[in-house]
Amino acid sequence: MVSVFVTGASGFIAQHIVKLLVEKKYKVVGTVRSAAKGEKLQESLGADNFQYEIVPDIQVEGAFDEAIKNHPEVTVAMHTASPFTYDITDPEKDLILPALEGTRQALTSIKKYGPQITRVVVTSSDAAVYSAEDEQKKGLYFDESSWNNISREEAIKDPVSAYYGAKAFAEKLSWEIAKETGVNFTLSTVNPVYVFGPQAFISEVKEQLNVSNELIHHLIKVGPEGKFDNDKGGFIDVRDVALAHVAAFEREDTKNKRLFMTNGHFSTQAMLDIINKNFDELKGKIPVGTPGSGPEDISTLATVNNEKTKALLGFEFRSLDTIVIDTVKQILDVRKSKI
Ligand code: NDP
Repeated sequence: MVSVFVTGASGFIAQHIVKLLVEKKYKVVGTVRSAAKGEKLQESLGADNFQYEIVPDIQVEGAFDEAIKNHPEVTVAMHTASPFTYDITDPEKDLILPALEGTRQALTSIKKYGPQITRVVVTSSDAAVYSAEDEQKKGLYFDESSWNNISREEAIKDPVSAYYGAKAFAEKLSWEIAKETGVNFTLSTVNPVYVFGPQAFISEVKEQLNVSNELIHHLIKVGPEGKFDNDKGGFIDVRDVALAHVAAFEREDTKNKRLFMTNGHFSTQAMLDIINKNFDELKGKIPVGTPGSGPEDISTLATVNNEKTKALLGFEFRSLDTIVIDTVKQILDVRKSKI
């Protein structure tokens, strides 16, 4: 039985990855920040092929050393742990350093203490492919070979730039470490755009969801007269992102590849239209906005091309309708169960 090490196992995306790995009968060792988080995940999974190690802070020197040393059976590692929030006070301290140093610590521990680990998958982002500004610029073109070349100075100017910078710096560092002498693993990265979809477990449906899903959640919490930002960007389903992480180590042809995970562009209005069309029970309780403006909203965005990733993975990515319907349905089911 192949054993897989997953950092940040209690995160939104990581829980889906761990759930999928456990279902596929891999042995999984997940790092979490506390025993309480590890126990909760173990209970949700209800499987004996999951165990956890506690890594309270990924950016501390040697953070992963003991966890890696404790598991000589592990031959695959995935580094997903990294802060995803724009609610910060210090861009450098709150976003850039944990992303960058967390990646350095994870990959350095693997190099030093996990020579048997031959495949490593790093959860990067579309933020490593383009800057927040460039993503919104019609006429620009991006694919698997594109890089966000934001400088450290530009990255500390606001929370969004800091997140984009953090992910770009961390992915660049991953590829540098992978080339170092004495490294026994081959790297693959998964670069998702905005990741939406149901939580892996209903116990994770809380008043505040993870940053990306909160965008959908907000629409059904805000009330009929409530305000929402009409965000625009790429979308992908969390279940497809989990499948990509598994393909990133199971297959030979994903070695040294960046898997750019997007299934097109969304606007918040387009999501709102899907909710209003499919959930009669929410009629009159959520905003209406400007129905039908979705295609126009996204017409100003840069062009993205991930044909190489799609051809490599060979499975159909879930549609925006499926993502929004499944996410909202799960939230409403949990609300009903509490009445
Ligand atoms: P979550 O916030 O749900 O997960 C982040 C994980 O990282 C959590 O397990 C968190 O632990 C852990 N973590 C963060 N900072 C630290 C730290 N300093 N020390 C230890 N652990 C830490 O976010 P997602 O699941 O959405 O994101 C997972 C990865 O995917 C990130 O690398 C993110 O950049 C990337 N990504 C996400 C996208 C999205 O739309 N969701 C899009 C593209 C990329 P804890 O739960 O205890 O806080």
